[in-house]
Amino acid sequence: MKVAVIGGGIIGLSTALRLADGGHSVTVYDPEPVSGATWHAGGMLAPAAEVVYQQDPLFPLMIAAGQWYPELIELTGKYTEEPTGYRTEGTLVVAKDRADKTHLDELREYQELHGMTTERITTREARRLEGALAPSISGAVHIPGDHQVRPRLFAAALQDACANAGVEFVAEAVKDVGEVDADQVVLANGLGARETTGWYDDENPLKLRPVYGDMVELRVPEHQRPLIEHVIRGFVEDRPIYLIPREDGTLTIGATSREDDRAEPQAGGVLQLLRDASEVVPGIEDSDLVEVHVGARPGSPDDLPYLGRVNDRVVVSTGYFRHGILLAAMGSKCGAALVEGAEPPVELGACDPLRHSRRS
Ligand SMILES: Cc1cc2nc3c(=O)[nH]c(=O)nc-3n(C[C@H](O)[C@H](O)[C@H](O)COP(=O)(O)OP(=O)(O)OC[C@H]3O[C@@H](n4cnc5c(N)ncnc54)[C@H](O)[C@@H]3O)c2cc1C
Repeated sequence: MKVAVIGGGIIGLSTALRLADGGHSVTVYDPEPVSGATWHAGGMLAPAAEVVYQQDPLFPLMIAAGQWYPELIELTGKYTEEPTGYRTEGTLVVAKDRADKTHLDELREYQELHGMTTERITTREARRLEGALAPSISGAVHIPGDHQVRPRLFAAALQDACANAGVEFVAEAVKDVGEVDADQVVLANGLGARETTGWYDDENPLKLRPVYGDMVELRVPEHQRPLIEHVIRGFVEDRPIYLIPREDGTLTIGATSREDDRAEPQAGGVLQLLRDASEVVPGIEDSDLVEVHVGARPGSPDDLPYLGRVNDRVVVSTGYFRHGILLAAMGSKCGAALVEGAEPPVELGACDPLRHSRRS
């Protein structure tokens, strides 16, 4: 089958790879692949730590994605030797003060209630695992199943794997799905899907919005490495913060969450991130500041992706919001199944791309 994938972010690339591996003739259209949310993401694969209250329909999708991640990494490795930054040391979640500890305890109860594995550990044990944690932290939880990739590396590996699997890349934007010569089209262009026409009658049924996230990249001096080895997430005066250690001695700190339409990194946001991160791991203050950047998460009104078939030629796969790096393992598998007319391996009723349109 001839398949056009519109968008070369993590969703488009991982879907294209699955389809090419399945023997289809695949073309990815993107004027600038990996320039969207994927370029700016932290890369935490966190089905448990990312649990948000009242988002129950998301959990089975996140859990399935976590279980299928090793398979996606393996599939990538079948076609390329490029690194992905996949690491499985697990995640530590720590609380700064007593109120944050209460928050951490409540969250843990909620995670356990939904079948996620978490281990309460003492702050002393946490500091034994990560000596750089502030002595003042008031609580800690270990989540062994929450892993990470390095999105920029992983996306580059996926691009190489796709090329080696026979995927063609066309450096053009698609305005109308009718323009592309293909039996099947996968609309996987993140926020760009707001402007892509040719698959609905009057009004675009996707209610996507950009949710900006400021990020900071540091480089730990040689003599302090590794400063940390686990992903560390913290609550500091109820604000979430995370620090992600990378193989090359750099450290990603994130992220703010803003809906103010300001597409440049914001000084106040960066200041807050650095302050909160240094409350959790004071040693970061000696690091080099390498980069400050901001990405736009493709958000939907209910925080669930838009994933499903909308007509006999078009499958929509966007709106992955905060979890698209993790959900790529699920979205690519289901997207490929939908293209092939097969039953998706998880229930996708809640992800119907037409659910927010007036017609539905
Ligand atoms: C600061 C930040 C931190 C994040 N951290 C995490 C995390 O730790 N873990 C996690 O799981 N998720 C995280 N996310 C979320 C994740 O990055 C996104 O959900 C995911 O990258 C979405 O991927 P995508 O391929 O759908 O979209 P994108 O990566 O935005 O890719 C869309 C692509 O489509 C292309 N395009 C647009 N319009 C067109 C067109 N008309 N024709 C052709 N191509 C087009 C663009 O050039 C772009 O390359 C984070 C996001 C941000 C911003």
